[in-house]
Amino acid sequence: LVQTSNDAITLENKYGAHNYHPLPVVLAKGEGVYVWDVEGKKYFDFLSSYSAVNQGHCHPRIVGALKEQADKLTLTSRAFYNDVLGPYEKYVTEYFGFDKVLPMNTGAEAVETAIKICRKWGYEKKGVAENQGKIIVFDQNFHGRTTTIISFSSDPDARKNFGPYTSGFIKIPYNDPKALAEALKEDGIVGVLIEPIQGEAGVFVPDEGFLNEVASLCKSHNVLFMADEIQTGIGRTGGLLAICGNCDCAGHCEKQSTYATPDLLILGKAISGGVYPVSAVLANDEIMEVITPGTHGSTFGGNPLAGAVAMAALEVIRDEKLTQNARKLGELFRDRMNKFIERTELVTLVRGKGLLNAIVINDTEDSSTAWDICVALKENGLLAKPTHGNIIRFAPPLVMTEEELHSCCDIIESTILEF
Ligand code: PLP
Repeated sequence: LVQTSNDAITLENKYGAHNYHPLPVVLAKGEGVYVWDVEGKKYFDFLSSYSAVNQGHCHPRIVGALKEQADKLTLTSRAFYNDVLGPYEKYVTEYFGFDKVLPMNTGAEAVETAIKICRKWGYEKKGVAENQGKIIVFDQNFHGRTTTIISFSSDPDARKNFGPYTSGFIKIPYNDPKALAEALKEDGIVGVLIEPIQGEAGVFVPDEGFLNEVASLCKSHNVLFMADEIQTGIGRTGGLLAICGNCDCAGHCEKQSTYATPDLLILGKAISGGVYPVSAVLANDEIMEVITPGTHGSTFGGNPLAGAVAMAALEVIRDEKLTQNARKLGELFRDRMNKFIERTELVTLVRGKGLLNAIVINDTEDSSTAWDICVALKENGLLAKPTHGNIIRFAPPLVMTEEELHSCCDIIESTILEF
């Protein structure tokens, strides 16, 4: 084991591929909203592993489920049944209100899965000519890192020199119902893939009603509405899902007509509370039935460890009322930040929903100011990370208390005033 943070950084630099540029902090322990570095310094985590650790670090109930299951059975592959997968599938489908789930491991795999289901549905149910199916996606999207997914990315770093790219995607502006209506006029459209809030792009919250329009346009054109809630879902934005606004219904409550219910719901990250890689695609029978033995799968997808962990993680969200807490603390956070930005020229904007928020720094995208602020925040005991140059995302675990949030706001404000 490493003795100092510097040792750990040296080892990573020497032996690991340089596919990330981490903040210079080496974490060795986590509990709830706190993490500690190798030297024992304590920090507030204000990123939550890109919203995977919504339930807080090392939640005892989730870790307990992992340990208990790890002693019994970890992996069977899907060559055989296991005694956790069925109960997990029942639990997760009832939780989100769909007929069926297809279990995978990482977010990108779940997005790939949704794309495959959507295309197959297009050919077998909608009657689109084979290989002619097209999926509408949005500028500045982030759905993961596979070859197909980066084929429709707007980020040059994510794309360049990874071609040839997968075809069959049409990219249009986000938050623009007219552009969507226009794009849907093309032949062969089988689906629309959307982040209800664009997280990686810098926490872009679309206008009220946009997602409902997307849902209803999809319905009227008989194309599948695919919601990538990998980052926004599971309490983060103050609703169980971002598509259901300030509600816990997953688009299935009595207000259903006012909310957008997706045909394919894509989940990852917090479905396991960050304890184990778990992802999922949920859909109703008439869509999911296009998947038959041999058409899709994964050695680890649906393993008993994942099922046990995910059930515990989802129970924690519900039992600890974390969605409601995200809603309440999110308002408090934006209130404080909106008041604060009147006192500084350095922050031009605060935006977000629930506890998925961002501030925009008054500097160019290629400046280092946001990075420098994050380094200073780290020195002052709070960990956050810039996304897209001059934007800093703020997404603490949802188990935070009001008092802790105020302490975090104190740190953010005094740090920014140092600049
Ligand atoms: N989709 C969205 C909206 C995401 O935010 C992410 C990860 O940040 C992914 C997909 C990819 O998930 P993973 O990194 O687990 O492959």
